[in-house]
Amino acid sequence: MYSCRKRLSFWFIVTVGVAVIVCQLFADQLQSQARYNKPRVLIVNSYNKGLKWSDGIMEGIESVLSAEFDISVEYMDCKRYLSDTYFKALYDLYELKYNDVDLDIIISTDDNAYQFLLENHQSLFPAVPVVFCGVNNFDPGQIAEKPLFTGVLEQLHLDRNIDLVMRLHPAVENIIVISDDTTNGIANSRRIREISKSLPRVNWLFYDSKMELDEKQLVSLVSKAPQNTVVYYTDYFRDPDGNLVDYEKLMQKLSQVAPGPIYTQSDIYLGYGVAGGYMVSGFYQGKVAGEIAKKILTGTPVEKVPIVEEGANKYMFDYQQLQRWKISENILPPGSIMINRPQSFYYQYKVMIWSISGAFAFLAIVILALFSALLYRRKIETKLRIREKRYSFALQAARSGSWEWDIITNDLFWSEHVEPLFGFEKGRFSGTLEAFMDCILEQDRQKVSQAIEKALQGRSDYYIEHRIVWPDKTIHWVSETGTVEYDKTGRPVRMFGIVQDITQRRHYEDEREKLLHRLKIKNEELQSVVYTASHDLKSPLVNVQGFTGELIRDCESLIKYCESQSITPSVWQEIRTMIKENIPVYIRYIKTSVDKMSMLLDGLLKVSRIGTQQLNFENLDMNELLENIKREMSYQVTKLNGTIDVERLPPCMGDARQINQLFTNLIDNALKYRSPDRPPAIQISGKYENGFCVYSVRDNGRGILPEHTKHIFEIFYRLDPSSPVKGEGLGLTIVQRIVDRHDGRVWIEPVEGHGACFCVAIKSTLMLK
Ligand code: ADP
Repeated sequence: MYSCRKRLSFWFIVTVGVAVIVCQLFADQLQSQARYNKPRVLIVNSYNKGLKWSDGIMEGIESVLSAEFDISVEYMDCKRYLSDTYFKALYDLYELKYNDVDLDIIISTDDNAYQFLLENHQSLFPAVPVVFCGVNNFDPGQIAEKPLFTGVLEQLHLDRNIDLVMRLHPAVENIIVISDDTTNGIANSRRIREISKSLPRVNWLFYDSKMELDEKQLVSLVSKAPQNTVVYYTDYFRDPDGNLVDYEKLMQKLSQVAPGPIYTQSDIYLGYGVAGGYMVSGFYQGKVAGEIAKKILTGTPVEKVPIVEEGANKYMFDYQQLQRWKISENILPPGSIMINRPQSFYYQYKVMIWSISGAFAFLAIVILALFSALLYRRKIETKLRIREKRYSFALQAARSGSWEWDIITNDLFWSEHVEPLFGFEKGRFSGTLEAFMDCILEQDRQKVSQAIEKALQGRSDYYIEHRIVWPDKTIHWVSETGTVEYDKTGRPVRMFGIVQDITQRRHYEDEREKLLHRLKIKNEELQSVVYTASHDLKSPLVNVQGFTGELIRDCESLIKYCESQSITPSVWQEIRTMIKENIPVYIRYIKTSVDKMSMLLDGLLKVSRIGTQQLNFENLDMNELLENIKREMSYQVTKLNGTIDVERLPPCMGDARQINQLFTNLIDNALKYRSPDRPPAIQISGKYENGFCVYSVRDNGRGILPEHTKHIFEIFYRLDPSSPVKGEGLGLTIVQRIVDRHDGRVWIEPVEGHGACFCVAIKSTLMLK
C-alpha cells in the first residue's frame, strides 16, 4: 500500500514537472511570437546617449511608445563624427542591418538624422514612413517629393519670449541678449535686434558675436549690469576661439551674477539658473514625434498627418528662480510647466504616507478582528468554565472523575476528582498506566488488562467494574467507561473515559444477593412446611371423619338398645334428646369443619405443588397451546353457546404444563363468571413488549370491581363467597404462582363496557435469542 502510494507520488511529480516545462516552452514561444508581432520602430538619433537634449527626446518618444512596440535605436553620434566617409560607413552599416528587416516606422531626432534620411531613405528604407523631430532648419521644399515624411519642427519663437519678458517685467529698463557666433546664434541675435526696434523704451545690450566675448568677459559684463535688467540667453555654445562651452556651468555662473532673471528658449538650460521662457523641449519634441508615429502605426496614412509646428514648445519656469526674483505664479501664461517646486510633505511622502496609512488601517482591522476574536473567545471561555463547573459538579456528585491516557507517551491524566476515588492525596498519583495498574487489586488486574486490550483492538467498548486497593489497604469498587481515539492509520493514540466509585452500590448488591438467597431458602422451607403440614394433617382428619361416622352409627345402635329396654319415660326423654338431637347436630358441625379443613388442606397442597414442581422451560408455540385448550374445553363452551377467539400469539419461554394450567384457569373463570344476560365471548391476544410477551384474556362476563383487584390473587379469596358458582378461591392464586415462577407478571386491566381483562407477561424468546 505504502509503496503504491510512493509510486503514485513519483508519477504525480513527474507529470507536474513535464506539464510545467511544456507550459514554460509554450509561454516562451508565445512571448517570442508576440515580440515579432509587435510593430517595429527604428529611432535614428543624430547624437549620442548622455546629451540632455537628445536623452529628453528619447524619453519623450518612450513615454508614448511603450512595450507594445519593438524599438531599435541607432545613435549616429554626430557631435563627434561628421565626415562624408563616416556617413558612408553608416549607410553601409544600416543597409547591412536593415536590408531584410520589415520596419514599420522610422523616427529621426534632430537635423543630422533628418538630413541623412532625406538623402538615403529611398535606397535604404524605401517604403517606411519617417517621423522627424528636433529639426531647426526646416524647408518644406525638402520633403515636397517625400510623401512618407512628416514630423515636428523645432521652432524657437523668440518673439513670444520677448513678449513674455515684457509681460512679466513691464518696468524693465535693460535687456541683455546673449548669443554666440554659431549659425543659430547669429540668426537669433539678428531676429531679436529686429524685435527690439518695436521696444525702444528698453535699453538693449547685445553681447553677441560682434562683441567677441569669451566666457569670463561675458560673466563679468553681466555681473556689472545695472539693476532692473533682464538677461535673454539665446545661445552660447562656442566662444570666439571656437571652443565648446559647458553651457550648464556657464548658465549657473551667469545666474549667480546677473542682477535680474534670465530667460531663454530651450529647456536644456532649465534647472541651471534660468527663470523660464517659451521653450523648445527635447522631451516634448520626442513625445509629439511618438504620438505622430503611433497615429501612423494605428492606420492613419502619412499624408493625412500634417507637420506639427508648435505643439512641442511649452512655457516652462523654475520655481526657485521665480521666488528669487519675486515673480508671481499668477501672472504666468496658463498651462505653464514648473520645475523645482518644493513639494508638500504629503506630495513628497505620498507613497510612504499611503503605505503607512494602509498599514495602520490593516493593523486597525487586524486589531479589531483580534479584539472581537478575543471577546468571542472570552465568551466561549466563560461558557466553557460554566460547563466545566457543571460537569465537575456532576462528576463530584456521582463520585466520578474523568481520565485521559496518551497511549504514545504513556501519560495518564486524572481530573481532580479521581485521586480521592483512589484514596490518594492531591498530586500523589504519578500519572502512568503502570501506576494505575498498581492500584488495582491483584486478582482483578488481568481482567482490566484484557478489557483495555480488547478496547484498543476496537473489539468492544471499554467498560469494567473492578476493585482497587487504597493506600490504607481498604478495598473499593470502581467502574470504568472509556473510548479509544485512533489516528489516520488506525493506530490507537488516545483513550479517555470516566471512573466512578461504586463501592456502595456493590455493597447493596451483595446485600441484596444475600437477602434473595435467604429468602429463597426460607421460601423453600415454608413450602415444605406447608406441604408437610397439609399432607400430615390429612391423616388425622381422615381419622376424625372416620370416627365421626362410627359415632353416628353407635348413636343409632344406642337408640335402638334404649328402646328395647324398659327405661322410665323421663329418663328416656333425656337420653333421647341427647342422642337424637344434640349429638347429631354436634357431629354435623364436626363434619362440616372437617370437610372445610380437608378442602383447605387440598388447596394448600395444590398451590404448594405448583411451587415445587420441576419446570421445563422451552420455546412455546402459544397458538398451538391455546388451540389444545380450546379443544379440551369445547364441550363446555358449546354448551354455554360461547365463543373463544384467539389472535396470532407470539411465542414465549415457559413450562408447557404450567402455562397450559394458567390459561385454562383464566378461560375457566371467564366461563364461570359469565353474565346471565349474554353468552360468554372470550378474546385472547398477545404482543411483544420490552422483552416480554404480554397476553390478554378478555371476557364479557360480570367484571371485577376495582376494589377487588388488589386481593383477587390471594389464596381462598372469592368476591362472592355465597355465590352458587362453585369455587375454592384458588384458581387465580395458582395463576399468580405460575407467573412468579416464570419471572413474569399478572394484572387486571380496566376495561370499557362489560367483562374483565386479565393480562399476563411472560419472558419472550425473542429477547433470549
Ligand atoms: P374461584 O374461581 O375458585 O372462586 P379464583 O381464584 O379463580 O377462585 O377466583 C377468585 C375470584 O375472582 C372468584 O371467586 C371470582 O369472584 C373472581 N373472578 C375470577 N375470575 C373472574 C372473571 N373472569 N370474571 C369475574 N370474576 C372473576
